[in-house]
Amino acid sequence: MPEKLVIIGSGPAAWTAAIYAGRASLNPLVYEGAISEDNRLRGTLPLGQLNLTTEVENFPGFPHGVHGPELMMNMKTQATELAGARVVTEDILGVDLSSRPFVLRDSAGSSVETHALVIATGASANYLGLESESRFKNNGVSACAVCDGALPRFRNKPLVVVGGGDSAAEEATYLTKFASVIYLVHRRDKLRASSVMAQRILSNPKIQPVWNSVPEEVLGNNTRGMTGLRVKSLLTQESRIIDAVGIFVAIGHTPNTRLLNGQVECDAKGYIVLMDRFRTFTSVEGVFAAGDVADATYRQAITAAGMGCKAALDAERWLAEKGFH
Ligand code: FAD
Ligand code: NAP
Repeated sequence: MPEKLVIIGSGPAAWTAAIYAGRASLNPLVYEGAISEDNRLRGTLPLGQLNLTTEVENFPGFPHGVHGPELMMNMKTQATELAGARVVTEDILGVDLSSRPFVLRDSAGSSVETHALVIATGASANYLGLESESRFKNNGVSACAVCDGALPRFRNKPLVVVGGGDSAAEEATYLTKFASVIYLVHRRDKLRASSVMAQRILSNPKIQPVWNSVPEEVLGNNTRGMTGLRVKSLLTQESRIIDAVGIFVAIGHTPNTRLLNGQVECDAKGYIVLMDRFRTFTSVEGVFAAGDVADATYRQAITAAGMGCKAALDAERWLAEKGFH
């Protein structure tokens, strides 16, 4: 028997969709992603991006903020225990949306059929793309301060954070607990981060901005790992070396749409295109999208959760219309 609704994802969008779908008696099946080294490096382990952060201060309902992992675990528990969602801890590696019901293939080698699908796969951390960056991954190079910041190699040592958005601001603030000094390397002289976050880092004496600069090469050797970073000034074109044992790359995220293999319309950056910007319909009938994977504009936990709600309601109505529910 095909499933009525499969949800792929494990962030606020997926769990909210699961809560609504469960309460609508759709008995949803959630693929929350696999626990693998590849997912760790890309920041796509189960429970999504908020599981990689510390305090979340802008999700309504928590007057003093809430710890990201706690919020995500609560969402999952609500989806499974209150709404009865079933969970598979595997990645969906490929989909066949040309057949009805749809067929999904997972990382354990199993397949599942479903009438409707919600894609809530979120986004993965970007890297700079330097050859030297790949060489020192796990040996100085990271894209997740919460995952790696407490490692002994970073204690009381100079570190670099690259980027100027909210993620860079958050990573830098978090790392002040461990580092002796943090160089914030940003390609402009103005931060993109929200003003409260920007203010927080610019007033922190442990954080030194390195404006108008980009990383050129991660320096180091096989014994010690990363020992420094060569950065180039975009104003003078001159290069200089920053002594640092770690670099935390926080230069944005790319939507996780590769599993769709071109079967759902995406824009030039890979975001799923919604057919109606107030709804969650995609270019394939019966496939709905929610959260960062379909939102290049807001990319917030609360907007992802809101879209997850809409996707479940859209899917329920569509399934009822087609006589599956
Ligand atoms: P995500 O949270 O991106 O989760 C997607 C998950 O889906 C993946 O982790 C993975 O488990 C699963 N998945 C992906 N591909 C597959 C697949 N092929 N098969 C199965 N499962 C898959 N926003 C705020 O509003 N407030 C904050 O304070 C805040 N802090 C942040 C701090 C950091 C460090 C970062 C990186 C982001 C922060 N954000 C914050 C942004 C927020 O985390 C995102 O907007 C939100 O998590 C997006 O939710 P989502 O449901 O779209 O997916
Ligand atoms: P972002 O807002 O897209 O910022 C990416 C930053 O990296 C920008 O400053 C950008 O520079 C820089 N950058 C991009 N590519 C680069 C490259 N190749 N080399 C050097 N620098 C590069 O991404 P984000 O900070 O990950 O945030 C993503 C979303 O999550 C946002 O909507 C954000 O609000 C949300 N978020 C929220 C919170 C929070 O509310 N507490 C925390 C984290 C994230 P330019 O500025 O020059 O473009």
